[in-house]
Amino acid sequence: MYNYIFGPVVSRRLGLSLGIDLVPMKTCSFDCVYCECGATTELTIERKEYVPTDDVCREIGQFMQNTSQKVDYITFSGSGEPTLHTGIERVIGYIKQNFPKQKIALLTNATLFNDKKVRDGVLDCDLIVPSLDAISPSVFERILGPHPSVTSGTVLEGIISLRKEYTGKLVIELFIVPGENDTVEELTLLRSAIEEISPDALQINYLDRPGTSPLVKKPDEKQLQAVYDFFEGLPVQLVSRPDYLVQTEDGAQLLRQKIVSTVSRRPSTIDDLMVIVGISADKLTELLAGYEQQGLITREKGERGTFYCAVK
Ligand code: SF4
Repeated sequence: MYNYIFGPVVSRRLGLSLGIDLVPMKTCSFDCVYCECGATTELTIERKEYVPTDDVCREIGQFMQNTSQKVDYITFSGSGEPTLHTGIERVIGYIKQNFPKQKIALLTNATLFNDKKVRDGVLDCDLIVPSLDAISPSVFERILGPHPSVTSGTVLEGIISLRKEYTGKLVIELFIVPGENDTVEELTLLRSAIEEISPDALQINYLDRPGTSPLVKKPDEKQLQAVYDFFEGLPVQLVSRPDYLVQTEDGAQLLRQKIVSTVSRRPSTIDDLMVIVGISADKLTELLAGYEQQGLITREKGERGTFYCAVK
């Protein structure tokens, strides 16, 4: 029985992911209308050791030593904002020291990245996914319910600083709240912020099951397509779209074109492709095996593992 780790769960974006929860339910610097954990009960920016760091490390060690499953990512997520915990750097160090091949992901609302100490503490993550849902103060306040000291300016500044210092993969997540952040005005502000950040990918996320707030509706296909088209030219992906795509002949063809053209420009590992096309490692492995059989791609061994490339 574990207190601070959960799963592993199959995640659309991360493959098999072991979750780590560093703060008690529901401690956060935001109170987002779309939060799956419900309303924030402790709205705070105070950093402290919310749960004992040693116990978190011990649980991770126990799980890793006793499992035969290959976990794609150990992921900081859960019932609040993980960077509020002052021991996050120590937990990352513990994983890297004891399980050097294990990849680490951080899902964060980015509200504390304007503090260099917080940024320095997460530089060893393999993947960081900061949320960026609004820029204009009114939309930012309405959909994110921030702590009074947090503004979109401080969040953006923090992500831009992190981008300059961090060498791992940075994927911006944008959660669409129809009628709020999908207006042309808001999307224009978001596009310019995302261009400035220049992330490895921009993932558009949206409600795909009943939410906790009646304010958030599931966007229809047309709304989603309009948002997707708005970011044309950027490395944009709809989080659920690839799963949907592979179910239709046209969709499967689009996905095949995207993957084959990606690896012909630059040989890529499954991890690289997971970030680019936003589907799980299992699904990618299956698709890549099929493309290989069709003579569309081939494999080569490299320093970071197996690379998929175009047939010469
Ligand atoms: S930042 Fe994440 S945990 Fe915090 S309220 Fe928003 S969705 Fe929930």
